[in-house]
Amino acid sequence: MNEATEYREKPNIFELTREELASILGEQGHKPYRAAQVMNWVYKRYAGSFQEMTDLPKSLRDELPNWVEFGKLELLKKQEGRGDRAKRYLWGTGGKPLVESVLLKYKYGLTGCVSTQVGCPVGCAFCASRHLGFERGLSKAEIVEEFVRMCADEKSRIGRLVFMGTGEPFLNYENVLAAIETLCDPNGYDLSRRRITVSTVGIPEAIREFAKESRGVRLALSLHATKDDVRDKLIPLNRTFPVGAVVEALRDYARATGQRVTVEYMLISRINDSKEDALALAALVEGIDCLVNLIPWNPVPGLPWKRPDAEDIKTFKEVLERNRVKVTLRRSLGGNIEAACGQLRRRITERK
Ligand code: SF4
Repeated sequence: MNEATEYREKPNIFELTREELASILGEQGHKPYRAAQVMNWVYKRYAGSFQEMTDLPKSLRDELPNWVEFGKLELLKKQEGRGDRAKRYLWGTGGKPLVESVLLKYKYGLTGCVSTQVGCPVGCAFCASRHLGFERGLSKAEIVEEFVRMCADEKSRIGRLVFMGTGEPFLNYENVLAAIETLCDPNGYDLSRRRITVSTVGIPEAIREFAKESRGVRLALSLHATKDDVRDKLIPLNRTFPVGAVVEALRDYARATGQRVTVEYMLISRINDSKEDALALAALVEGIDCLVNLIPWNPVPGLPWKRPDAEDIKTFKEVLERNRVKVTLRRSLGGNIEAACGQLRRRITERK
């Protein structure tokens, strides 16, 4: 076996369970508790390398890289707007940009927003990610590493995880599900499933499959329009999975899981922000246990749309409330550094 082959075959620490690591260490004559020590350093103390694991014997620290790779992502750039409560990370490999993640600092705690694909094949008209082209889905280990590396940088546990970065999570279904399982593993990071939200533009079959496998993970649907002709232009995948089919799948998800779902609705001036649009939205979600999250459009240079004025936003919200729809208005935390929804990966090559 040559050196390159050996390197490729090494498992990544972010894809291993404690038992799997114990088995690797066991083959080398080490006791299982050493695996627990390593996992503690990775998921509770956010070590950046095996060498930092100071309660391991020096010989083991030196040997571990021969058997297990310590992650793959390089931090190429970190950006934090002045006075902003969001931090944006650009990760890469071999110096080449790959994906971005965002850390959002809310009053109630930290939320990590991760990407699931390198570029995005969906091509939503409002989304900066579409300009970069689609390369591939991220592996389970890469998704887990994005999240844990944000903890390491912040030197703090992050209590919530949202899959709202670049990529449609359900087009990388298996790896997203596997990353959730890894992060929720009680022997690892032990994240509560109820503190995870997967956001999708709506793939009915995957939504129904996820209802069987999510076990408490929350679902958000990026709806953004109630009429197919409007949504076709905003989200090209709507031509394959139209509004009616997507909302029915959401209804089934809420019914099957007994969970409240979130409907994300980006308000764009004169596109989807009229009173009639609000009434149509209320009718569409009637009977679904959902929270509609209104997101006033964050301007992206090169795109023609405008943010609705405050009065129109207020009216839209009131129409929903009058029709007994639960509704919130999202305050964008990341706007200052272009880390709000649909703005990830914008011009990252210019930021290198
Ligand atoms: S909004 Fe989401 S699904 Fe649409 S292009 Fe952007 S990353 Fe992809």
